[in-house]
Amino acid sequence: MKQKTYVKCMECNIVNENSDYCKNCGALINIVLKRRLESEAIEEKRVALENKQKEENKLLKFIEKGLNHPYFIVRIPFKIGRLIWLFLAMVIGGLISFILAVAAG
Ligand SMILES: [Zn+2]
Repeated sequence: MKQKTYVKCMECNIVNENSDYCKNCGALINIVLKRRLESEAIEEKRVALENKQKEENKLLKFIEKGLNHPYFIVRIPFKIGRLIWLFLAMVIGGLISFILAVAAG
């Protein structure tokens, strides 16, 4: 014989029988299931963040490797890319200071 469990919904105070979800409002009322889903969601977020950081590290390592590559021909595109990046950063910085100077009159 299966034991009956009664759980009161925290959202609408309706008492539900043998159910994980409220029959009235559909809220999740099984605390164990709720906690598990919550911890699963947290774990998922953590793994996604970790993967993202790994990808970023990979990219940084790749650029570093390229800049220090023994073959000059391989280093060239990396050096050019870095120069373009530095140039862009300078131009944008210059633009911002120019706009600020104009705005200040
Ligand atoms: Zn409810």
